Amino acid sequence: MKSAGFETDLSLFKYDNLEQLPEAYRGLSEDERTDRIEAAKAELGDDLVVLGHNYQRREIVEHADFVGDSYQLSVEAAEADAQYVVFCGVTFMAESADIITDDDQTVVLPSMEASCPMAGMAEALQVDAAWEEITNAAPDADIIPITYMNSYADLKAFCSQQGGAVCTSSNAHDVFKWAFEQGDKVLFLPDKHLGENTAYRLGMEDEMASWDPWDPEGKDADEVADSDIILWDGYCQVHERFRTDHVAAIRDEYPDANVVVHPECRREVVEAADIAGSTATICETIENADPGDTWAIGTEIHLTNHLQRWHPEVNVLPLCGDACMDCNAMRQVDPNYLTWVLEELVAGREQNVISVAPKEAELANVALERMLEI
Ligand code: SF4
Repeated sequence: MKSAGFETDLSLFKYDNLEQLPEAYRGLSEDERTDRIEAAKAELGDDLVVLGHNYQRREIVEHADFVGDSYQLSVEAAEADAQYVVFCGVTFMAESADIITDDDQTVVLPSMEASCPMAGMAEALQVDAAWEEITNAAPDADIIPITYMNSYADLKAFCSQQGGAVCTSSNAHDVFKWAFEQGDKVLFLPDKHLGENTAYRLGMEDEMASWDPWDPEGKDADEVADSDIILWDGYCQVHERFRTDHVAAIRDEYPDANVVVHPECRREVVEAADIAGSTATICETIENADPGDTWAIGTEIHLTNHLQRWHPEVNVLPLCGDACMDCNAMRQVDPNYLTWVLEELVAGREQNVISVAPKEAELANVALERMLEI
């Protein structure tokens, strides 16, 4: 079995300018940091917009000017006039915000340790090496690389250069259809579960193969090159945790319960659920539920908790109870970090700035614009 001839010292942390939280910001009480965050926001006024991803804890989202999923927040970032965009999310989201905001706007990530493990499973250097293998294995095919929004800017730029595009969990099926109009095969990165669920939605489940170029026990490029959809072997550890047992247990305990899950969940969990959809779909499902309805949710636990709090008339349950996970990357955005970066901005100092290199940003933006045009 041949594996890709590429070695790298991979790290979950793409950014190496990790700043330690100053001692003075550790151990702030909730009341003190709430007052200080709001005071800093008032001082910065229209020069600041704070974006909070749905997977952030309550103590973060209550300070956000906008709360949403990564795509919604990118749109808010693009429309913001503020000089500073403080993005309470993970690195790939802040990169996307930097790409689509004006050059004179500064994007700040409160903690540089907030790096999505799934994005780290498909670094551009790895994919570049694997690309050579897969294109050599299918020399007569046009392979279109599609990357999920949950990826780094350099991978988005790579896909752009190779004629590909970006997709979200809402539009993956449309982007796949577009790709098959451009070429013969799709290489989908990095989430194999979203890719598999999309293949099923398109009726192409017999035409896909999962590929880990570095697994000596796995299929090599020649074996997967016959498939129309080649799925990179990445996954989200938060969503992969859900099992059909969890769905069965909920239905057993709450016979009237409905189940909604994110398409980053395993195929069998998506099949067992009533609805599978993006974070926006999950939120809309609960917003539109009738009072007294019971909905079990298969996604990151903070979003489930927010929905319980925002819609007390609906019986909102975490799909796997106490076993539901928070995202350990999102968790790095501690409210004390938010206090620190805001007070630094008030003092005229920019900490934890996310800045994508201009050439990379230009290419990545092409891949994003292709998605928006589809
Ligand atoms: Fe990444 Fe999953 Fe966390 Fe989202 S929930 S940031 S995909 S690890």
